[in-house]
Amino acid sequence: MVEGWTHWVAYDGGMGKQSTGFGGAGHSAGNGYPAAVRELIERLSGLPGIGIRSAERLAFHILKSEKGEALAIAEAIRAVKESVRHCKVCFNLSDDDVCTVCADPKRDRSVVCVVEQPKDLIALEQTGMYKGLYHVLMGRLSPLDGVEAEDLTVDHLFNRLQRSQQADDGDGRVRIEEVVLGLNPTLEGDGTALYLADALSKYGVKVTRLARGVPTGSSLEFANKAVLGDALLGRQSM
Ligand SMILES: [Zn+2]
Repeated sequence: MVEGWTHWVAYDGGMGKQSTGFGGAGHSAGNGYPAAVRELIERLSGLPGIGIRSAERLAFHILKSEKGEALAIAEAIRAVKESVRHCKVCFNLSDDDVCTVCADPKRDRSVVCVVEQPKDLIALEQTGMYKGLYHVLMGRLSPLDGVEAEDLTVDHLFNRLQRSQQADDGDGRVRIEEVVLGLNPTLEGDGTALYLADALSKYGVKVTRLARGVPTGSSLEFANKAVLGDALLGRQSM
């Protein structure tokens, strides 16, 4: 059986050219593959950026690899779906109820940076220049796509501010003094920032936004560390 597989996967190198049965209109992965391989290729090709050719290549790589190595991929997928959740304070991705940033006693709890997605938070963290906390909106306002404030974590942000404003000296809670709007410099990111700046004005916090080092239309995720660091240091009041 092992030999059979070895022979079979020896086609690997040429699969790209041979797989003309894949990817055409109405074709699903099929024709000649064992059902389990077909299933794997179909699943992989459903991932963003993975066309049917890449899916085949990945499937053959998995077939060729050590069983332990291949199962480790399956296990990593399982673990991510079963153990990763959103931090109940800031909505960052977390292994626990509260993420490592929120749980870190060294962070400055008086500053909260609002970002669109966990990947933006990670980009800012990688600059090493921000010591406050975050709030992940899980998207941005996009009226044309029907994304409204209630589809985001905006209410949680307002609740967070409200609770923080009720903090007394001595109860251990820290008042939020500044909200940094770290939205992406796109039309929708700007729209979301304006909406938030307006809505936040009644909470008596300083509202700032990242300086315009980040090129308009790009995203925080792809900005380099130095540019992001400057954008953080040079943040401006709204
Ligand atoms: Zn958190």
